[in-house]
Amino acid sequence: MTKYVCIVCGYIYDPEVGDADSGIKPGTAFEDIPDDWVCPMCGVGKDQFEKE
Ligand SMILES: [Zn+2]
Repeated sequence: MTKYVCIVCGYIYDPEVGDADSGIKPGTAFEDIPDDWVCPMCGVGKDQFEKE
């Protein structure tokens, strides 16, 4: 699956890991994350991410 990187802070969303702190289970593709999810590092929205 494709990793996505936050263009503001450099946080990388890895679908194989997910984001446990936000309730995103491992194996969740970036496209399937709820639209109200925000970057766990800097708090920007999904529109500030691009494919790594
Ligand atoms: Zn960020």
